[in-house]
Amino acid sequence: MNPIQGSDKPEIILTGDRATGPLHLGHYVGSLKQRVTLQKVHEQTILVADMQGLTDNAHNPKKVSSNILNVVADYLAVGIDPSKTTICLQSQLPALAELTMYYSNLVTISRLERNPTVKSEIASKGFERSIPAGFLTYPISQAADITAFNASLVPVGGDQLPMLEQTNEIVRKVNSLAGRVVLRECKPLLSDAPRLPSTDGKNKMSKSMGNAINLGASEKEIRTAVKSMYTDPNHLRVEDPGEVAGNVVFTYLDAFHTDKAYVSRLKERYRHGGLGDGTTKKILETCLQDMIRPIRDRRNVFLSDKAQLIDVLVQGSQASREKTAEVLSNIKEIFGLNIL
Ligand code: ATP
Ligand code: MG
Repeated sequence: MNPIQGSDKPEIILTGDRATGPLHLGHYVGSLKQRVTLQKVHEQTILVADMQGLTDNAHNPKKVSSNILNVVADYLAVGIDPSKTTICLQSQLPALAELTMYYSNLVTISRLERNPTVKSEIASKGFERSIPAGFLTYPISQAADITAFNASLVPVGGDQLPMLEQTNEIVRKVNSLAGRVVLRECKPLLSDAPRLPSTDGKNKMSKSMGNAINLGASEKEIRTAVKSMYTDPNHLRVEDPGEVAGNVVFTYLDAFHTDKAYVSRLKERYRHGGLGDGTTKKILETCLQDMIRPIRDRRNVFLSDKAQLIDVLVQGSQASREKTAEVLSNIKEIFGLNIL
């Protein structure tokens, strides 16, 4: 049964976001929308990954610390409800760092270097051989996060699939060392838009690349972003037939417009000729303005009460401490380090 609709067997869900900037439309369609539905049926924890945010920002730690509450405000603004979902802060859970140390002994450097997402991030960040050790090993810390909550299902964007593969490799190694099932493997849950492109169509929309439309974007920012969107470069006159594949305006209409039949008719007209980019962009802009406006308004209200946002993290982290410590204790036992 589709876990989004709900299943007879509740799943344990763990997911998270790096505190490297406010959340954007890629997060919304890639994972946040699903989380709002999943929290109604399943046990869900969301981790604000501040320590993972430092792995490529140690030279500018303020970027991470100043975005922790922004991320929590984004969660609440899209409808994640702290009475249904546990929202916690990675650095408040010491068991996660300890688990990372134990798992590090089960993973080789060459395996980490082969991780395709890490590989492309190293290239795009220009690290060359000066890769922070924490960055190269962040898939191990993600394995610690996922297994510490005994998660069975992880809602993620497509870039995270290699991390879940590495997590399951670690799970199998731990279970084989133990000679019994101590940790469980997890499954990814992808949305219909697992890799929302940036407005220029060149990359995935990312906090760190400065190419995002944030959930708190102003009307003007949304307008400017849509106007600059990449379409079909050969579609010069309105009457020319146009290409829909790779046309970012249509990718976004597919991801965000609620009337799928209408988008389908627009595509048909665009392919045939007679529909201009100005018109499709106007339709998309209206759709995004209507969708983001209430989120932005709620986000501003939540951000005006920082104490409430901190309290959400304090409560969530407290609730997670015991759970994660128990998994750590099981792992220490496997390595024979629980003698005291
Ligand atoms: P950073 O640039 O700092 O890595 P990010 O924008 O990639 O930030 P993350 O915090 O790394 O965001 O990712 C959080 C979650 O959102 C992950 O599950 C990731 O797969 C998903 N996600 C991020 N960007 C997109 C996107 N453009 N489309 C779909 N899902 C996305
Ligand atoms: Mg990322």
